[in-house]
Amino acid sequence: MDFTNIRSVKILFGSNKLNDLYSILDENELHNGMLVCDPYFIKSGLANKILHYSKGLITDVFFDITSNPTVNSVDNCAEIIRSKNIKFLAALGGGSSLDCAKAAASVCLTSHSIVQYHSNNRKLLKEHLPLIAIPTTSGTGSEVSRKSVLSDPLRGIKSPISSENFYPSIAIVDPVLTLSLPQKITASTGFDALAHALEAYYSRLHKPASDEISIYAAKLIFENLLNVYEDGLNLDAREKMSKASVLAGISADMSGSAACHACSYPLTFLYNLRHGAACAFTLDSFVRINAEAEDGRLHYLAKQIGFKDAYSMADKIKLMKIQMGMKTTLSDAGIDINDIENLSILSMQPDMINNPVVISIDKLVEMYNSLK
Ligand code: ZN
Repeated sequence: MDFTNIRSVKILFGSNKLNDLYSILDENELHNGMLVCDPYFIKSGLANKILHYSKGLITDVFFDITSNPTVNSVDNCAEIIRSKNIKFLAALGGGSSLDCAKAAASVCLTSHSIVQYHSNNRKLLKEHLPLIAIPTTSGTGSEVSRKSVLSDPLRGIKSPISSENFYPSIAIVDPVLTLSLPQKITASTGFDALAHALEAYYSRLHKPASDEISIYAAKLIFENLLNVYEDGLNLDAREKMSKASVLAGISADMSGSAACHACSYPLTFLYNLRHGAACAFTLDSFVRINAEAEDGRLHYLAKQIGFKDAYSMADKIKLMKIQMGMKTTLSDAGIDINDIENLSILSMQPDMINNPVVISIDKLVEMYNSLK
């Protein structure tokens, strides 16, 4: 087995770690920074708190970001970086602001629109601005990944760009920031983390280190996700979910994602599901499908976590989805039966090739039909 492992994100993990922001920035000689965040954090006051913690090292805020970040947001952010001579970015939030900041930190050093890179016609320069990632959810793993998932409403697509440029320089993972997450986001991001752990494990590109990390992360998620959903202020369980999310993100970055993530892109784009909710929508189905893989690896993972086999793990995922009010049927998700063929065609995204069981369009049609 050959494998390459590249990662250079410095992870600073711990409750109240954000209070050290000034010393972290100062030690790394970072100044004249811009905070990139969801507009929600302007209202909540957290954006201001971060400016305060930075003691003048972060001078601007960019918050023109939607929940599926667009190429337009990236271009607008890059333009402000150029015009204000910003020297680094701090991205606060879930996947959206992190993904926007990753792309803007690279494309701002060119005179191009990110659209030229999103369509894979151009290769990004090696240079990029330093990026400090401050996740506020436990799920996306964007703080440790090389992916930026962007939507282009004009071309009607949502897809990732993958670049080593996109690794943040530093990830400040402070579980205290997740205490105020609403139940819905706690659930959807938690399922995203679970999908990262399981998909990295069953990916055709899986690697020994990510196998072990995935088992550990998935176990933490099965043990703690319902707890944080029911009691958001449980800091011990929140810390465990934050740890699981970072580890699952590392595992997914090492070994990639598979069918569940491939399907999530059209599901979010066409039906406006949150990324994690879209992953949750098909996760138990793909665990069942991949339980049939010849190598039987998914049964091994399930047993390591304490399940009888992969099928009982899929049952548990389905039950957790119901307990957390997730969408489990086509009608819940607003999918018309007549859309299944088109949805299946659009689900054939690049991640699909990593799935251990070969997935055809007919197989997807059958899978979506089983969710009636
Ligand atoms: Zn994901």
